[in-house]
Amino acid sequence: MKFFDSLIAETENLILPFRMKELSLCEPWCDAGQTQVILRRDTAYELEGVGFNLVTSSDISDSVVVVGDDLEAIKDSRSFARICLVQIEDSGDEQKSYNLIKKIDYVKYHTFPDGYMMRSTSRSHKEAVRVSKQALKSGISFQKIGSLLIKNYKEIPSVKGVRVIFITADGADYNGTERIAERNHAITQTLNHIMNSVNFDCDTCNLKAICDEVEGMKELHFSKTDKESF
Ligand code: SF4
Repeated sequence: MKFFDSLIAETENLILPFRMKELSLCEPWCDAGQTQVILRRDTAYELEGVGFNLVTSSDISDSVVVVGDDLEAIKDSRSFARICLVQIEDSGDEQKSYNLIKKIDYVKYHTFPDGYMMRSTSRSHKEAVRVSKQALKSGISFQKIGSLLIKNYKEIPSVKGVRVIFITADGADYNGTERIAERNHAITQTLNHIMNSVNFDCDTCNLKAICDEVEGMKELHFSKTDKESF
């Protein structure tokens, strides 16, 4: 699974010019176990931006990277991005890898860090986070949130490594993270089409631009169609 590798390289390049902390895993932050509502009066601030996963079979070590201020240093609402680089086992079976991408995405919607309300929809890469005053008093940090996400991702046996990158730096390239999120969404949509459709007329397909650009996409669709026609 290498379809997202160029986006992983772009992400690493995008954060390179900034001061960043690379942290190992720690005791994960508490998971409330269900959706929580943090009222405005209990909110310290909001983070708004994008949140998404980039899946690969290349090596990724477990780590949490903070580019910019950590949660306790933030005073006001600001832009942010959360990008999880997720290494999966290379089974050589595209259907299995595709199912894993779906499963990994599902984890985010079933992680409920206490006092850290993540809002997003499965059709969008936007992510908004409300951080409660109480959670800040109790010592919440990106290292603890990242460790919780990594623990939950790794409950899927085929997930081998996860690098969670949080970006809050002033002047970070948030247009760039948005662009990467959109490309990620477009490649995932193309994979959806390939795995679920028998139509392979490239000349009339509205996903042609992605298939022309991402190595292996066309081959995947044709090999799938070949298999299904027998
Ligand atoms: S291989 Fe052709 S038909 Fe299939 S998704 Fe790509 S452009 Fe469309």
